[in-house]
Amino acid sequence: MGRPEIAIIGGGIGGLTLGLALRRHGVRARVYEQAPALGEVGAAVALAANGTRILRELGLSPALEAASTVPSELVYRHWTGRRLVSHPVGPGYEAQFGAPFWGVHRARLQQALADAWGTEDLHLGKELTHVEVLGDENRLVFADGTTTSATLVVGADGIRSRIRARMCDDQPVYSGTSGFRGLVPRAAVPDLPDPDAVQFWMGPDAHLLHYAIGDVINFLAVLEGPDRWDGPAGTAPSAPGELAAAFRGWHPAVVSMIEAVPQSPRWGLFALPPLTRWTADRMVLLGDAAHAMLPHHGQGANQTIEDAAVLADHLAAVTDDADLPGALAAYERRRRPRTRQVQRSSWVTSALLHLPDGDAAAARDRRLADLVDDFAWIHAYDHREPAGLPTRRKAPA
Ligand SMILES: Cc1cc2nc3c(=O)[nH]c(=O)nc-3n(C[C@H](O)[C@H](O)[C@H](O)COP(=O)(O)OP(=O)(O)OC[C@H]3O[C@@H](n4cnc5c(N)ncnc54)[C@H](O)[C@@H]3O)c2cc1C
Repeated sequence: MGRPEIAIIGGGIGGLTLGLALRRHGVRARVYEQAPALGEVGAAVALAANGTRILRELGLSPALEAASTVPSELVYRHWTGRRLVSHPVGPGYEAQFGAPFWGVHRARLQQALADAWGTEDLHLGKELTHVEVLGDENRLVFADGTTTSATLVVGADGIRSRIRARMCDDQPVYSGTSGFRGLVPRAAVPDLPDPDAVQFWMGPDAHLLHYAIGDVINFLAVLEGPDRWDGPAGTAPSAPGELAAAFRGWHPAVVSMIEAVPQSPRWGLFALPPLTRWTADRMVLLGDAAHAMLPHHGQGANQTIEDAAVLADHLAAVTDDADLPGALAAYERRRRPRTRQVQRSSWVTSALLHLPDGDAAAARDRRLADLVDDFAWIHAYDHREPAGLPTRRKAPA
């Protein structure tokens, strides 16, 4: 009886945000991370109002504001440079959605979360190998041979989650697309139009997304293919010059950006199939472990942060262990439909960004006039809304 003992597996964006959100409610948790030190691979992450609203509430504004760049606007362009549509992302965005849009280095975000969390309840070098269910207790077994127990285990352990593997035997689904990332000094792309904007450049079989963080431009270039992905979700080597070849003939600023830095490894873009349950045996999923999605709405981390805030709210109300299953079910009811909608929309967007010139691309471009409607239902979300439904605009059917 009493409050549950909570063990969080994974010290990434989701695990640490959940820990901090629980602590804000006066609930203690322990975080177990397989890496010997907290660090982030990859370049940058875009945090929209639905995520920054929560991070601000957790007291992270001073650290993150100092590390972030607020873009001027969101712009969609044709691959030749023609500006198709734009939406302001500066003060007007914050006034509309109640929180800012931040572009931030992933390492700085991870550091801000880790600094706020501290070391007392952080257990590094702890790779969970399996969980044994013993009545109302879970026994966690780590690769170093140590064990611990907890009444609730949160699987915040990413797209290859071991906790998810306890619940089902599905695998990440390859999207047939792959990405390359880079950080380019602004000075290397002097002819880039609107360098302070978040910009999507769309063309046949590829698109480029970029935004500035201080003096550098962070980009993600996405290509169709390869047709098959052998091996686990993650990165793989690529043929030299492949990325530059895919963008040959595009606007000169796009070409300069891609050629300004060595070609990165290739990221296979994967999503996880939707689950009908996120909980089993006093285990619950959060973040990529529950709903890894394609990055085309820039929402994987933001949805993970939303999960953490909602789960913490429900767990904070549990003062007796017996109420735990009800709290987990309520969390799942709030989060599954929402994340499913964002996940599905990100998947559909992938193909739209890669259309060849022609009627379908022209129809897409006309539809971009409704750009604000297309993302408002995502960015306006406030996790304190009881129904957890979009607050201002409707989600697409
Ligand atoms: C190319 C690309 C660009 C992206 N851009 C954006 C963006 O702009 N905006 C956005 O919101 N999202 C973006 N995302 C998505 C975002 O990175 C993820 O959704 C987010 O990191 C998920 O957080 P998480 O904590 O659930 O998982 P992760 O960040 O994967 O963290 C999981 C943690 O669990 C640990 N772990 C795993 N297994 C074990 C184990 N057995 N035992 C102990 N620890 C374990 C891992 O080491 C890791 O630290 C992007 C993703 C990609 C691939």
